[in-house]
Amino acid sequence: MKDFEDLDDIVEGEVSDDAFGEEFEDSLEDEFEDAILVEETAVAKQTKATPALLDFDSIDLGLSIPGVIVAETGTKISRFPVERIRFTTSKRERISIITDKVIIVKTHFIEDFGSIICNGSACCEHIGLPSVRYLFPIVHYEDTDKKGKPLSADISVKVLTLGKDNYEDLLTIADNKGSLTQFDLVVTCTDEQYQKCSYTEAGVAMWKKSKKLLNDVAEVLKKNGKNLVLPLGRTMTDAQLNRVLGMDTPPGLPADVDLDDVFNDD
Ligand SMILES: [Zn+2]
Repeated sequence: MKDFEDLDDIVEGEVSDDAFGEEFEDSLEDEFEDAILVEETAVAKQTKATPALLDFDSIDLGLSIPGVIVAETGTKISRFPVERIRFTTSKRERISIITDKVIIVKTHFIEDFGSIICNGSACCEHIGLPSVRYLFPIVHYEDTDKKGKPLSADISVKVLTLGKDNYEDLLTIADNKGSLTQFDLVVTCTDEQYQKCSYTEAGVAMWKKSKKLLNDVAEVLKKNGKNLVLPLGRTMTDAQLNRVLGMDTPPGLPADVDLDDVFNDD
């Protein structure tokens, strides 16, 4: 709790000053220590919902597989098990970097196809030098106001991908203040298309105050290690890549070989 009270010493700038009023501190402390209670309340609300004319439960979809999800209208899901966070200019977001290590991913972009993960062979030969992205698993505070101030303990695990410039911005914060994993960061986006953002250190990582959230996040990462890199691109064999690039040659002799030449000994 000591760290939390010392926030004023750590926090700088307009975003943070505003975000850490005394009243706010108290309310958030309750919030993050009682994440379980929040969830229970949500469940209670759901069960108390007004009965609809036609009860959905009376409809038999006839299948129960992970690819079919029944949810309230308005729910959106990502096709990736762990989603890549994208920032908008209309709202600041609050995130927290989970791990001390960075995952560095080289990718190639293929027109009309998308991104592929570099395998260091045919891709570089045919497409050219790869792009480099720096990836961190993060906690995203889902429920924040426009300034990135949390309104509830609603969090999810996502991946943050950075180009060289933003990566260096974060390294500067780490140089000045220590390990990035101890902080929350408030992200201000100035260009949605190119995801140009500025990162402001915003006090100790709030989600770490909740043992339940710590366990939940550890569980998600344990389960999804191999899914973290998925949003950055597909992995392909050289044969698959050749097909995509239209470079696969049909079996047999090329059409322009003159068979008379091949069989004529003279
Ligand atoms: Zn490559």
